[in-house]
Amino acid sequence: MSEDLEQLKQRLPLLEYLRQQNWTGRPAGQGPEFVGLCPLHPETRPSFYVNARKNLFYCHGCGQGGDLIRFVGLSQHLSFRQSLTYLEQQSALMEPDAVLRLASAFYQQQLDRYPEARQYLERRGVRDPALIRELQIGYAAGGSLRRHLLAQGYSLDLLQRAGLVNPQGRDALYQRVVFPCCQDSRIVNLYGRSIGTARAHRFLPGSKGNLFAWESVRQFPSVILVEGIFDLAVLWQAGFRHTTCAFGTHLTPDQFRQLSDRPRTVYLSFDDDANGRGQQAAQALAHHLRAQGITTRRALLPLGHDPNSFFVQGGDARQFQSLLEEALS
Ligand SMILES: [Zn+2]
Repeated sequence: MSEDLEQLKQRLPLLEYLRQQNWTGRPAGQGPEFVGLCPLHPETRPSFYVNARKNLFYCHGCGQGGDLIRFVGLSQHLSFRQSLTYLEQQSALMEPDAVLRLASAFYQQQLDRYPEARQYLERRGVRDPALIRELQIGYAAGGSLRRHLLAQGYSLDLLQRAGLVNPQGRDALYQRVVFPCCQDSRIVNLYGRSIGTARAHRFLPGSKGNLFAWESVRQFPSVILVEGIFDLAVLWQAGFRHTTCAFGTHLTPDQFRQLSDRPRTVYLSFDDDANGRGQQAAQALAHHLRAQGITTRRALLPLGHDPNSFFVQGGDARQFQSLLEEALS
C-alpha cells in the first residue's frame, strides 16, 4: 500500500499536478522551491511554497502543508481514500498509456486461458512462447476487461475515453488477439485481430503509433517492411529481426519519417495479391522513399502470398533470404 502511494506520488509530482490545475509559481531562490498564491485560501501576496524535490507544500498564510494527497484532500474536500482514488484516475488521464498498459497486461494474462487464441496463433504460424511474450501478444475474450479495470479504481468514463469500453458500456475488443502499439516505448493503442467472424482488424481510437518495434529495428542498416503484424511475427521467428510493420500499406507521416531518418536499405515485402494493390502500394512507397535518399528493394513473393502465408505453407528462412537477394530495386 505505502509502496503504491510512493509510486503514485512519483508518477504525478505535486508541482506538475498544481500546474495542471493552473497554479503558477515562480522560483523562490536558487533551490527547488517555488512560490505562488495559495490555492487553499484567498490572498493577494504569494505565501504558498512548493518544494519540488521533497514533493511537499507549505502555506505561510493559512498554515496548511503536506504532500500531494493532503493537498487534494484539502482542495477537493475528499477523504484520504477518496483522494487516492481521484489521483489514480488523474494520473491515468495524464498518462494515457497507463490504462492501456494495464489492459495490455491483462490481455496477456488471458492468452493461456483460451485454447482458441493459442490455436489461432498456431494457424498463423506463431508458436515460439518467447516470441509471444516478446511481442506482448494477448487475448481479449470480451466481457472481462471492464470489470478488471473498474476494480483497479479506474472510472468507466476514462475507460470509454481510452476506447477500451464502448458507449454501450461493453469491452470494445472481443475474440481478438491483441498487440500493443507503441510510441517512444509508451503504449498508445491496441491492435486487435479477430479470431472469429467479426471484422478482421480493429484499432482503438487514436494514433497507431510508431513503426512496430522501431526502437530495436532502427539500428539495422537494412530493414524489411511488411504489411501485417503476423508477417512480422513469422519473420522474427525465422530470425529476420530487422523486420518492422506499419499495420497496413499506408505509413503515417511519423512512420515515414522514421523509415527515412538515416541512410538505409528498405526491403518492401507486401502482399502479392491478385488485385495488385499490395504491389502498387509498395511501388508508390518505394518512390517516396527514394526521393528521401533511401535505397529500396521490392521482395516479390510467389503470387497470392504474403510473408505470413509463405512461412505457414512451408517456406523457410533460406528461401526467404533468397527472395531478399533477388529483390527488385
Ligand atoms: Zn494558504
